[in-house]
Amino acid sequence: MLIPDPKTLMSEAAFRFVNESHKLLIGDRWLDAQSGATVDVIDPGTGRVIAKVPAADSADVDLAVAAAREAFDNGPWSRMTASARGKLIWQFADLIEANARSLAEVESLDTGRALYECQIVDVPGSVEMLRYMAGWASKINGETMNVAMPCDFHTYTVREAVGVVAIIVPWNYPLELAVWRMAPALAAGCTIILKPAEQTPLNAIRLGQLAQECGFPPGVINVVTGYGETAGAALSAHMDVDAISFTGSTETGRLIVKAAAGNMKRVFLELGGKSPAIVFADADLTAAIPGVAGSIFFSAGQVCTAGSRLLVHASIFDRVVAGVAEIAATMTLGHGLAAGTQLGPLVSSDQMDRVSGYLDAGRRDGVTIVTGGHRVGTEGYYMQPTVITNTSAQMSIYREEVFGPVLCAVPFDDDDMDRVAAMANDTVYGLHASIWTQNLRLAHMMARKVKAGNVCINTHNFFDPAFPMGGYKQSGWGRASGFQAIEHYTEVKGVVAKL
Ligand code: ADP
Repeated sequence: MLIPDPKTLMSEAAFRFVNESHKLLIGDRWLDAQSGATVDVIDPGTGRVIAKVPAADSADVDLAVAAAREAFDNGPWSRMTASARGKLIWQFADLIEANARSLAEVESLDTGRALYECQIVDVPGSVEMLRYMAGWASKINGETMNVAMPCDFHTYTVREAVGVVAIIVPWNYPLELAVWRMAPALAAGCTIILKPAEQTPLNAIRLGQLAQECGFPPGVINVVTGYGETAGAALSAHMDVDAISFTGSTETGRLIVKAAAGNMKRVFLELGGKSPAIVFADADLTAAIPGVAGSIFFSAGQVCTAGSRLLVHASIFDRVVAGVAEIAATMTLGHGLAAGTQLGPLVSSDQMDRVSGYLDAGRRDGVTIVTGGHRVGTEGYYMQPTVITNTSAQMSIYREEVFGPVLCAVPFDDDDMDRVAAMANDTVYGLHASIWTQNLRLAHMMARKVKAGNVCINTHNFFDPAFPMGGYKQSGWGRASGFQAIEHYTEVKGVVAKL
């Protein structure tokens, strides 16, 4: 595989940004970490260092939280009308849209993901979320109620912003996840400290620049780059942070919950998954086969909702597996920014070790690798899209979140819906699922039985700002989109007056 020089594939604006001296955004100032420490940012397509960003620690986090606190308690943001707040959020969307090309290029370079994905998903998805939440800003209302108490009381509720929100996002969708978490918090009137993953910090810094250009008052949006164990841990334990929004692994989610206990801050969690795609015998395979392949190979499987377990009726198992394997074997693997790339590299050498480790364990356990299974080249972190059969429910590759382009296919030969649902639900996760069938009754009955925050019928990986996204079981707490997301960033205050 020929790896091009990424410099030749980027617009001047993106190249200039990547080569800037990157800083933390605290209030209205751009600062280095007080310790002077930095984190190397690596292009996953080449394995080379492309930038350095500050490695913030608790001293920098204290400053960022103080700036967000001041902006929330005393700044113009909290006194602004909801309409003005909504307008600013809408303008933020416009600015992101105006910078779509360079944001997509930086995202592709930083994550390794194919540029077309960033162009069709990440940037428009960010813009739409901001526009959707901008509309909610002026529609966050309380209500009046009829109470049972005798005498004359006038009772009503108001919804108030929860306060200072820390947002910790992972490396797979750094731009879109940052924006998806920020948008409802901003609409509710909160102030924010955004911490991107250490592997992919660039677009969080760019978002900070655009937020300033947009005119958000100082301290409403702060950006702190650095490691999870230092900057992330300091944010999640901070006594002056009122709510935390964490997106990442279930293991780290557990640490966040513990750290949040200190001041009982509100916790939103969007965690791991091992999502089933269930293909029934009557499914339209011209849609199901590419749909299933897309659900696991998009973003090289580094998606929390990836359809990593394929459950197929035995009567069509061989056809479906062969169809998905053929798609896998013919995908163009390449640098995210290179023309024609369908599948980029994994994000990091750690992630390569993790995915390779699961594949090695699968081999030891005796699985059959139908296609893929190997790293490609030694430069960058390229992994072949992989389809596996002959797994059992006890194997780590079947049970645990691999977070790579690895699909485990399993037949079911039973038409009993409860038994198929039990197979689908045999996981600690409950984030996403898809059901492929032309039988409406079967589809909706299965949708009831599958324990997941989102169940898709004849599609997979459906996300929309209006559609509540989130997990059951160990996949998380709360919903990231729809009005449910706003509820998370507001407190309900009941007011009563004796008349
Ligand atoms: P991964 O293991 O795939 O890197 P994580 O869930 O650990 O995924 O990372 C997601 C985000 O959580 C990143 O921004 C990371 O810096 C942050 N993070 C990691 N460890 C901690 C921690 N102990 N406390 C707070 N944030 C953390």
